[in-house]
Amino acid sequence: MAKIVAFANQKGGVGKTTSCVNLCCALRLLGKEVLLVDGDPQGNASSGMGVSKSARPNTYDMLVGGVPAADCVVRTAFGDVIPTGAELAAASVELIGVERREFVMREALQTLYSDYDYILIDCPPSLELLTVNALVAADSVLIPMQCEYYALEGLADLMTSIRLCKKRLNRRLDVEGIVLTMYDARMNLTNQVAEELRRYLGDKVYETVIPRSVRLSEAPSHGLPGVVYDKSNRGSRAYMDLAREFIARCEG
Ligand code: ATP
Ligand code: MG
Repeated sequence: MAKIVAFANQKGGVGKTTSCVNLCCALRLLGKEVLLVDGDPQGNASSGMGVSKSARPNTYDMLVGGVPAADCVVRTAFGDVIPTGAELAAASVELIGVERREFVMREALQTLYSDYDYILIDCPPSLELLTVNALVAADSVLIPMQCEYYALEGLADLMTSIRLCKKRLNRRLDVEGIVLTMYDARMNLTNQVAEELRRYLGDKVYETVIPRSVRLSEAPSHGLPGVVYDKSNRGSRAYMDLAREFIARCEG
């Protein structure tokens, strides 16, 4: 049975997609069966995995059109993908009248549970219905965070939403872990924020931190995950380490 992990943080540009794509590929390289579900109308995870944002059927068709999840899967060398494009933005509105609208993704993905070790869902930078659907489908939330002051304020809001979701919609939901991204150990603020997070959240914060790496940010323009585009750079090695730490926590 797959473990389902949502990559969420309502703050934008913190490394959700980069973490989701690279962890997916790293887990694949470590021999796991992985599916990445692109749940963000920006479609960055799709293109980051080398899949066209105009591929159909996609996440939108699965959620709104009732297309079976298995028919939406695109196979890549880096893991399977259910891609999406901008049409997914309409899903939040089109699902309004639907009964149990928070459970649509969960019910759609259930048919695939036995095919994968891990299903990773990339969320948009908001706490709207698409993110709620991902949180209801998920067993746990992985939270990418940048070490900035505002990140601490944002985290409090996110934790409240996770708690509410757990109470009302999905009792299984847990925090998988917090990964510090674009980490720059030369900056005092980075170290202070990291220390603060570790003090409050203890071992929920992964030991592995992801450094700032130009190679990781270049990789999507080549349609490749960073860990494949340049496997020897610091950022890629960090994502491989994160994958090992992630597996050890999930399976250890
Ligand atoms: P959004 O909220 O818009 O979905 P996001 O949280 O998914 O954004 P990403 O798209 O992964 O964040 O990253 C934001 C930007 O930062 C991108 O341009 C990405 O290439 C870059 N980036 C992410 N991680 C790193 C890193 N470790 N080093 C350098 N650049 C990075
Ligand atoms: Mg993103």
